[in-house]
Amino acid sequence: MPELPEVEVVRISLDTIICGLKIKNVDILNKKLRYIISANVKKDLKKQKIISVKRRAKFLLVNIDNNKTLLIHLGMTGKIFILDRTKKVTFKTSFYYYSNFLRKHNHLRIKFFNNLELIYNDVRKFGFIKLIKTNDLNNHSNLLNLGPEPLSKSFNFKYLKFKCLKSQKNIKNFLMDQKYVAGLGNIYVNEILFKSSINPRKITFKLKDFEICAIVKNTKKILKKSIKEGGSSIRDFKGTSGQDGYFQQSLMVYDRENQSCKKKTCKGKIKKINIGNRSSFFCKNCQK
Ligand SMILES: [Zn+2]
Repeated sequence: MPELPEVEVVRISLDTIICGLKIKNVDILNKKLRYIISANVKKDLKKQKIISVKRRAKFLLVNIDNNKTLLIHLGMTGKIFILDRTKKVTFKTSFYYYSNFLRKHNHLRIKFFNNLELIYNDVRKFGFIKLIKTNDLNNHSNLLNLGPEPLSKSFNFKYLKFKCLKSQKNIKNFLMDQKYVAGLGNIYVNEILFKSSINPRKITFKLKDFEICAIVKNTKKILKKSIKEGGSSIRDFKGTSGQDGYFQQSLMVYDRENQSCKKKTCKGKIKKINIGNRSSFFCKNCQK
């Protein structure tokens, strides 16, 4: 499932490629996603211009010049492809996937006047696409209760300590909860807790100040590193063959059950347990 860094890499790609382009027409190829794609998407986007592509948590916000915003969530398997029909080139917009995709999973196609095409493809259909008024964005149900962006200044020691003291949750479920901090998912929360040497089952009000500090610092560090690596993996992409994400190779605990802990001084093995119905990976020697 795409988390903040993956969505941010898609945002950067889209902003670079489609910003300023004028839409020729839109085809809804299969309206069935988590929410049905409204017919307004076709009607209201025609002949309009893309102003900018922003991100909030795991949502992409494509701002259009008629004061509307296309709100896109990639769900589990949502992918966005940009095709250049004249040069027969597919731009890779994320570091997770290859450009050869099955047409039967295409849901939306936006054609631009310069012959570029944007395709939204989603195998498992958990993603969604909504068109909303830009002015209503902050009060929209999907965005209303989101916590601060982890890479912003509002996600800091003071904020996190205040929230942790008031919560009875374990730190794993806490960081997964979008109302405390927006955009993190299972992979990055596992990695952040390993790097911070904190057991995922630890209750938040028991966290020491230095542990809260470590979470803030490592969250920012890990996300930035992943965005940078993702960005560099798409920069060189030309043609039809892709490279897979580099960040997966640098994962310390996620999906490494029974493998040796990567910390040099540690002889432990990575354990897998279930927390809140999601797999948690940790080293009990390193994470207390
Ligand atoms: Zn260890």
